[in-house]
Amino acid sequence: MNANALQFRRATDAKAFDLRHRAIVGKNTATYHAAVARGLARFADWETARRRAAAIKWEVMNHLDRYLEEFERNVIARGGHVHWAETGAEASELVVSLARQHGVRKVVKAKSMVTEEIHLNPALESAGVTVLETDLGEYICQLRGEPPYHIVTPVMHLNREQIARTFNEKFGTPLDATAEQLAGIAREKLRREFLSADMGISGANFAVANPGMIGLCTNEGNGRLTTALPRLHVAIVGIEKLVPRLEDLALFWPLLATRGTGQFLTVYNTLIGGSENFHVILLDNGRTKLLADVEQRDALHCIRCGACLNACPVYRTVGGHSYGTTYQGPLGSMITPHLRGWEDWSHLPYASSLCGKCADVCPAHIPIHHHLLHNRRNSVQRHCDAPLQRFAFRIWRWAMQSPGCYALGGKLARLGMWLGIAKPLARLWTERRDLPDPPRQAFRDWWRSNERA
Ligand code: SF4
Repeated sequence: MNANALQFRRATDAKAFDLRHRAIVGKNTATYHAAVARGLARFADWETARRRAAAIKWEVMNHLDRYLEEFERNVIARGGHVHWAETGAEASELVVSLARQHGVRKVVKAKSMVTEEIHLNPALESAGVTVLETDLGEYICQLRGEPPYHIVTPVMHLNREQIARTFNEKFGTPLDATAEQLAGIAREKLRREFLSADMGISGANFAVANPGMIGLCTNEGNGRLTTALPRLHVAIVGIEKLVPRLEDLALFWPLLATRGTGQFLTVYNTLIGGSENFHVILLDNGRTKLLADVEQRDALHCIRCGACLNACPVYRTVGGHSYGTTYQGPLGSMITPHLRGWEDWSHLPYASSLCGKCADVCPAHIPIHHHLLHNRRNSVQRHCDAPLQRFAFRIWRWAMQSPGCYALGGKLARLGMWLGIAKPLARLWTERRDLPDPPRQAFRDWWRSNERA
């Protein structure tokens, strides 16, 4: 078992039995689901809307080269600059070199998962640049020294008391501060930082090929302050974020807001075009490898709404930090092995019951659970599974293909349980769970006797 798989196993083992964590996440996802139900009711035909979104994304992915060049041409024509980065390290180096060229000492950042993906903050900090997260959730993560727990709601795992304790430790604010007071404190501190920052960094929810603009959605207005107040704006954009036309946002913005947070529209929807202080870094970082995989290419249709995480019983039980990845839950298990390598991440697709709820809720109509199954097959074909696991599945397959072996196995298991030797053998499973008593009669025996009767 590789180090990441071992870390995942240890973290999930601890988190799955943390009842406090489960209660907080359960409460927060229940609020989310109620809001989404209200949001969905505003759509005349949700199913058609998401099929249309999938068709638009399909068109983009099949002509991505053309749309990227169109986007680049239009940004440059509007006065902006476009850079291309093949890897996360290249993208970080580009940002650091822009910071050096422009004498940047302080950076404010709007929420951006792609900057988490490329580990931008440590790169900037080691170049002597101060980085401040300005999304409230990300700001709390930064204060706590934690990565985001969820791609849309970074502190979904915390309640008000825990956040108040963090603020108390950092700023000496009262432990009984209300949510409004906590937000007010963050607002007051961040306003000063916006005014003194030299560079604003954002991602993009969408990159519109024609007329070459990026679309940003935030609920706190920090996206506009980040991109408008500092003298330089750098947007780091995954190449899958393209949509062809401005009017496509009339579909994608409500889809993202409804499945992301249950709002019909996010509060601030901003379009940013070119100016000479606007730099876009178009990032590959493994995306073209996924694009080359015709079977799984539609995983690039993802608009990062986070709905599949909220729907997933495994994610809600083991929590976002257990995955050890930037993108968690079904989304992360679908794309991480492609983006970061099969050797280290092939264990993730197994963290699923394959119930298909993720695919049901996906606004981009991605058959996520099928891709998880594809990933399991790919990891076996690449010999990434553990030898013991491979051996166990061979035995299982052999037994399942032979009715006699299957019956004998059932009999031996029942006998072992009656004699009390199966439970110690199954100790890893029964340590924290009950092993049900075996039925007195196997179904096949019951069937045989009833068929005769
Ligand atoms: S895979 Fe679908 S549901 Fe999951 S984050 Fe992406 S768009 Fe949302």
